[in-house]
Amino acid sequence: MRAFDFQFPPRLVGGAGAVATIGRLVRDLDGTRVLLLTDRECAAAGHTSRIAASLEREGLAIARQFEVPGSLLEANVCGTFLGRAETYDSIVGIGHEGVLEASKAAGTRVPVISVPSLLGSFANKVRSKGDARTGVPTTNVLGVSEFTTVVLDADLSAATPRATIAAVAIDAITHAVEAWVSTRRTEMSDLCAREAWRRLAVHSLRVLTSPDDAEAMGDVLLGSFLASTAAEHSGLGAVHACAQPVTRHYGVAHGPALALLLPEVVRWNSKIAGARYAELAGIRGETRRPETLVARLEDLVAAGEFPESLAAAGVVERELPTLAAEASADETGTFNPRKFDVAGALEIYAAAY
Ligand SMILES: [Zn+2]
Repeated sequence: MRAFDFQFPPRLVGGAGAVATIGRLVRDLDGTRVLLLTDRECAAAGHTSRIAASLEREGLAIARQFEVPGSLLEANVCGTFLGRAETYDSIVGIGHEGVLEASKAAGTRVPVISVPSLLGSFANKVRSKGDARTGVPTTNVLGVSEFTTVVLDADLSAATPRATIAAVAIDAITHAVEAWVSTRRTEMSDLCAREAWRRLAVHSLRVLTSPDDAEAMGDVLLGSFLASTAAEHSGLGAVHACAQPVTRHYGVAHGPALALLLPEVVRWNSKIAGARYAELAGIRGETRRPETLVARLEDLVAAGEFPESLAAAGVVERELPTLAAEASADETGTFNPRKFDVAGALEIYAAAY
């Protein structure tokens, strides 16, 4: 066994209907006055009322309820403001990633219970302060460990649009695959990445064809959480580094940008990390070859109906060198298994074009 140091602070509570236990979870943290942060979808679907009822059953007061905007930067500002202005001793945040972001920003002094919907799954969790120059959030830090309690309830993700499921799933899969080969990986990040891949590879396809399959949705939610935990404890790699400039310059969303690059980066990295990729492919009983993993990833990308190439996504070919320079400077590429520089980034972009 190689040496490792793995800290896992959140209490993790999972299961369909788990939001009904929130009152008890707040009580366990000695909370009495709760700041309840939510989003429009969760409020409309009645999840927010269910949490309010659960708090009432425990005799807990809602000090304030607030609907958080979807934009991460706005959500961060709201959370910071609420954190200064309100008097409460616990926070419950239920919904999309903006809600989780606001919960974190508001919860610097008090415990935070985070209840992500698939839309707000940790797959998309990003550092709030973002890139100082562009203001665009970066994906260097994933936030799983910053919460006191995390509740995974697949019921919250019913009726999530198909395109969102595809984007979240490919992001989570990328986190698992990048963490699996990161030069900073540990026994524990491997454990999380392996299990994340096992769940996500099968169940992502299932929820794309049957979005009402609550069992599979639960696996995607848990897989996404595990993938983020793996990445938080090891690091990401060239896929995220190459995807960021594509998002910045062409407005391609995070999930689709990753989908365009993931199979190509695995091919490119195989020269160094082929045995590791083969091992990951073998987890599902398939032939232990890197090509098998690439084929599975391409299946997932095809099922998600993402753009087929950088050209199809609107990227201009003569700008690839500019993108490559930015990608090579992105710190997410630091722990990529194959040395990642401008020339490498350009090779990857060219292959994905
Ligand atoms: Zn990501």
